[in-house]
Amino acid sequence: LPPLPAKSPVGRIDEDTYSQYAGCTKFQQLPLSKNTKDGVRQSGFKNMTNIQRASLPHALCGRDILGAAKTGSGKTLAFIIPVLEKLYKARWGLEDGVGSIILSPTRELANQLFGVLKSVGKHHGFSAGLLIGGNEYDEEKDRVNRMNILICTPGRLLKHMDTTPNFDCSELQVLVLDEADRILDAGFKKEVNAIISQLPKYRQTMLFSATQTKSVKDLARLSLKDPEYIAVDEEA
Ligand code: ADP
Ligand code: MG
Repeated sequence: LPPLPAKSPVGRIDEDTYSQYAGCTKFQQLPLSKNTKDGVRQSGFKNMTNIQRASLPHALCGRDILGAAKTGSGKTLAFIIPVLEKLYKARWGLEDGVGSIILSPTRELANQLFGVLKSVGKHHGFSAGLLIGGNEYDEEKDRVNRMNILICTPGRLLKHMDTTPNFDCSELQVLVLDEADRILDAGFKKEVNAIISQLPKYRQTMLFSATQTKSVKDLARLSLKDPEYIAVDEEA
């Protein structure tokens, strides 16, 4: 793995932590919280995939990530685990509100992510919610501020940002743009830009994509700070 960049914003990267993560091949070797380790083990995951090995050491010490790896390579855990660890280390509690937002291109993918989050995160006490088109907006509206981790499609999240009274993302710690290429292919560029413009600037952002198109690079430029570029080409 490459050495740390010389000039990183103070406080964002913990070099001691990074050296503990680099070179690990199994999840259980990573210095994760017991809650996360138990969730990962009980979900049946042992050895990290290449994208997980390459990106988790950076993501876990707080860096922004631009990760590219083809479909099926295990990108989900490459961001779910850092989200859980970030909020755990911040001692995030139910009363702290929205700590992480994960954007997904489709309801189906959002549902899948929710399943992984519930399974891997089951020993943590965080609340998590799905904000997706097709759900009852009014029901979501009442619960949305009590959620620590929101998995959203862009249109629905923006609707809450624009119209739900007291919807508050001002303490957001981690933003994830999953399947960013598909989010952009689905025509959500305007929505994503509007969402990002309303989020606090001091945050960790991870952008994952199967392909590195020009529009993905444009979105990366807009949303990431000093990102670590991780591209993994795996045989099926
Ligand atoms: P991607 O988002 O890159 O398309 P996913 O995160 O959806 O990939 O993972 C694809 C499949 O691989 C899922 O069934 C997932 O459970 C499985 N998987 C992910 N990471 C691992 C791992 N470290 N070991 C075994 N299976 C894994
Ligand atoms: Mg995926």
